[in-house]
Amino acid sequence: MKSLFTWSHIPVYFLLLIVFPTVGTLLALYLAIFEGVISWLDLIIFAVMYVVTELGVTMGYHRMLVHRSFQTSNVIKFILLMLGSMTMQGPAITWASFHLKHHRFTDKPEDPHSPTMGGFIYSHFGWIFDRTEEEMELTRQKFGQQFYSDRLVVFMHKSFFLWVLLGLGLCYLAGGWTGLLWGGLVRLFFTLHVTWCVNSVCHIWGSRMFDTEDDSKNNFWIGILAMGEGWHNNHHTFPRAAFHGMRWWQIDFSAYLIRFLAFFHLVWGVYQPSEKTLAEKAVK
Ligand SMILES: [Zn+2]
Ligand SMILES: [Zn+2]
Repeated sequence: MKSLFTWSHIPVYFLLLIVFPTVGTLLALYLAIFEGVISWLDLIIFAVMYVVTELGVTMGYHRMLVHRSFQTSNVIKFILLMLGSMTMQGPAITWASFHLKHHRFTDKPEDPHSPTMGGFIYSHFGWIFDRTEEEMELTRQKFGQQFYSDRLVVFMHKSFFLWVLLGLGLCYLAGGWTGLLWGGLVRLFFTLHVTWCVNSVCHIWGSRMFDTEDDSKNNFWIGILAMGEGWHNNHHTFPRAAFHGMRWWQIDFSAYLIRFLAFFHLVWGVYQPSEKTLAEKAVK
């Protein structure tokens, strides 16, 4: 098991990803419970920002960019990558490259975030602080070369922090300081941990619909919170599938939005394996 204390000293990331969202969430709860400082507007800003930015990661970063589950126009691609960037999970090409590495080496020693290899905390967020700049560059070169031919993707990758700041700025404009607290820091706390749960929880707890060589699991609660990404055993079996929920009760908000946009021809070329293909890989 890798030790958390081999972090390659990136305290700025630690402040941004762990300290600020956690302290912000505790402060927001304190103000709400003991001072009564909270409004419906704060909660609405939180909810809207949570849903749209999480969808930016699940539908934009993950299903569109990494797995090419569907195609869309540059306008929608821009919107999805912008919303994904607002979750502060890293620039698009870096995120996509590490995710492809995870698929290539799932639950093997080279997997960047496997609980089987590194334990729960390491797979949840410890791994992020165990990366060097050189390793990040190497991973982009090895797994992310194909993304550099798309000028829009490269632009969104390079302007990553601009979108993070825009996301925070919009919350302030909509609701002042408490809007920023709930729509910014509390929302970041939840979107970060929920996405991290896909890497940690969904390789430990849940059920399996398909036989895979990794430890991926389907987890109902992460399925709901992470806009369908909790059906992670389904996803590891069929990485390109646009719909991770493969039964009616496997709630997958990203899939519903993809279907909705496909109905209006705003996305197309939506890939989904047939029921026959699913049956071939089902747990016997
Ligand atoms: Zn996984
Ligand atoms: Zn994936």
